[in-house]
Parts: sequence; structure tokens; C-alpha cells
Amino acid sequence: MEKYVRVQKIGEGSFGKAILVKSIEDGRQYVIKEINISSMSSKEREESRREVAVLANMKHPNIVQYRDSFEENGSLYIVMDYCEGGDLFKRINAQKGVLFQEDQILDWFVQICLALKHVHDRKILHRDIKSQNIFLTKDGTIQLGDFGIARVLNSTVELVRTCIGTPYYLSPEICENKPYNNKSDIWALGCVLYEMCTLKHAFEAGNMKNLVLKIISGSFPPVSLHYSYDLRSLLSQLFKRNPRDRPSVNSILEKGFIAKRIEKFLSPQLIAEEFCLKTFSRFGAQPIPAKRPGSGQSLASVVSAPKITKPAAKYGVPLTYKKYGDKKLHEKKPLQKHKQAHQSPVKKVNPGEERRKLFEEPARKRRLELNEKEKKQKDQISLMKAEQMKRQEKERLEKINRAREQGWRNVLSAGGSGEMKEPVSLEEDPEPQMGMTALADTLTSAW
Ligand code: ADP
Ligand code: MG
Repeated sequence: MEKYVRVQKIGEGSFGKAILVKSIEDGRQYVIKEINISSMSSKEREESRREVAVLANMKHPNIVQYRDSFEENGSLYIVMDYCEGGDLFKRINAQKGVLFQEDQILDWFVQICLALKHVHDRKILHRDIKSQNIFLTKDGTIQLGDFGIARVLNSTVELVRTCIGTPYYLSPEICENKPYNNKSDIWALGCVLYEMCTLKHAFEAGNMKNLVLKIISGSFPPVSLHYSYDLRSLLSQLFKRNPRDRPSVNSILEKGFIAKRIEKFLSPQLIAEEFCLKTFSRFGAQPIPAKRPGSGQSLASVVSAPKITKPAAKYGVPLTYKKYGDKKLHEKKPLQKHKQAHQSPVKKVNPGEERRKLFEEPARKRRLELNEKEKKQKDQISLMKAEQMKRQEKERLEKINRAREQGWRNVLSAGGSGEMKEPVSLEEDPEPQMGMTALADTLTSAW
């Protein structure tokens, strides 16, 4: 902290303070997030350090830039840029009921999407998307902040924070105690878009029970017809009850009315970088093996094998062969047999030609087989890679979910409403774990 002079405390979240500071080194203002980690286990602390290292590597014009982090007296300090324009929540409230122009909403929304794309493309979830974590810089650029901080904290704290902090962005799957996933971020993105369109929260209620019921039923007051059909239809897609039915951030950015705004905010070079990575992460940059296992033949030798352009002509089959019917062309019999069957028996057979065919035909077959084999191997490798990634992600989600489950128990017992009524499965079952009313009853005193 000796490198910074404290200017003022600008806020206090449920997990720590946000302090505005001035750097002694460069004289610029920064925000420092102070997170108490003294109650964490050493393993959790280690994990937090790793998470912070990931955050430090994020660099995007629409993400609040993380600058530094350090630990002092049992607290973790994360230094980030100060956004002078304040947060979107305050900006929305400053409207005093006057709706924003659609152009303004979409310009902001596309920037939020670009930030979220950067995060999701790197297989990181934000976990705390809300208008209070979206900032405006001095020149009006949108920046997504606080991402990953939720991950720095353990899931239990995160859940308690959601329950006592801002529950408006809870997605149906979280209400139903299912794992948080990238589509839960998309739900929260929908909540922010709705807020920009109506200046209100999509899901509001006087208590937790009614809020959960509203979220689960997915009913929200319609937005003004003054906004385009595209915008209203996008909102209903973001609020799909089933996470799988919600679009990914990449498919949102592919929508014409959103896509056309991207170049306003990203330079051509950044567009190339950001939109290239998607292809990379999806297909993986796989090295081509120099030798195919077991074959003893190098790939290069197969690639450089002479190309047969007109196989029929090469093997002496008349090119007018088709007149005997397509079916015959597809029969598995060797071409030579067809030739014999349809050619005049008096025609002399050239023995040299015959010998050449005898060698070429099996070689050609071998090449085809090898190509086929190689294609199969490649497919298998990609499949295995995809499965491995899926398995790892599932394990990670299950771990989070276990902690989350514990979190619900803590919250509920702290609220005096007793134990969960049914055991919670960790499977990614799309069906609710509890009946809606049972869950809502359980949550009544957790508000
Ligand atoms: P919360 O749990 O509500 O996200 P935070 O500690 O993140 O609490 O933020 C507290 C306040 O500090 C918020 O009002 C937010 O607007 C402000 N704030 C946080 N980070 C920044 C930042 N980088 N630039 C400007 N204001 C910030
Ligand atoms: Mg915040």
C-alpha cells in the first residue's frame, strides 16, 4: 500500500472495500479492491493468487484494466483503473425515468458483449454481471469490471453475497441450485439489457420467495414497443429459462443489428485478434503428426504421391462408360472387370499395361485407405480433446456446485429456515431439484 495514497473509500461491497487511491509512481488514480482472505484456507489463498494472475493478463478496451495485486495484513489488494464516468447503475438512475435512445442502448450493449466475449473465449466466467459492475470511462467507453473477483472468493462467500447483496441477476438455474455456467452470465447480461431499456430490474419482488418464483417462471413486464423488434426479441432469447436455449455471447455478436456496431469500438487489428481466437479455441491448433502410427510412412510421402486426375482414363476405362448406367459405376467390383465385360473380346491385351495396372491399383487403394485412416485418427484426436475439456469443465462445475450447495445450507440455516428439504444432486440435470414452491418456501427467510 506504500506505493499508493488513499484518496477516499468509494464503496463497500459485501466482500470488501473499494478505495480510490493515487499512485506515487505515476500520479494516476486507481481503485483498489481490498478482500479479506484471512479466513481462507491456504489452498484457497493459492487459488486466489492464480486467479489474480489470470485477471492480470486480461487486456481489452472494454474491460477495466487490472494493474497490480499484493497481500498485506491478511487482505488481498487488487489494483485497477479508475473509471471516472461511474457505473451504469448510477447512469440509469440519473435518467429519472426518461428512457434511453435505442442507439445508445445498443452501443453500450455491444461493448459489454465484446468484453464478455473476451472473457468467455478464454473459458472464464464473469459471475457477477450487473449494472454496478459496468463502468463508464471519462470518454464514455463501457468497461466491464470486477470480473473474476467472484472466482477469487470461494463459492460459499459468493452465494451468500448474492443472497444478501444483489439477487436481481440470479438465473433460474442458480435458483434451482444447478451449476453456474456461461449461460448464467448471459442471463445476467439480459438483466442488464432490460435495465437499460426500462430503467428497472426485470425481476423484482418484495421478498426472496416471490423473486425466485418470478425468476423461475421467467415472467417480466414487457419493454416499451418504442424499441425495435430485434431488440425485444433478443431480450426474450436472453431470458430463456433453459440455459441451453440462451444464445452464447458469440452468437449474440453475430446478429446483424449488433455486429454492425462492433467496428465502432474495436480497431480492425483487435477485431482480427478477437474474432480469430474463437476459431482457434474451437478447433485447437493441432500439430500434424510427421508419421502416422503403425504405417511407417511419412505424411509427406502420401501428400506428394502423384495425383490421379482422371482415374477412369488412366485405367483404360472409356470415359463414355457412364452410358452403361450410374449403378455400375458405384459397384465395388474392380474397374478392370467392368472393362473386360464391356469390351470386345478380340481386343488384344497389352501385357506391360496389365503389369503396370497390377501394381498401380493396389498402391492407389493403399493411398486411399491411408488417407481415410489418417482422417479418422484426426477426428478421433479432436473428439478426445473435446471430451477431455468437457470432463474437466464438468469436474470444475461440480466442485463449485458442492461449495454452492454448502452455501445455500449456510444461508438457510443462518436465516433460521432449517435444512434443505431434499438432497441435492450434482448432476447437470435440466430439471429442477426441488418443486418451485418448496424451494421458494425454503428461501423465504433468506432474503
Ligand atoms: P459491489 O459489490 O457493489 O460490486 P464494489 O466494491 O465492487 O461493490 O464497488 C463499490 C463501488 O465502487 C461501486 O459503487 C462502484 O461503482 C465503485 N467502483 C468499483 N470499482 C470501480 C472502478 N474501477 N472505477 C470506478 N468506480 C468503481
Ligand atoms: Mg463491483
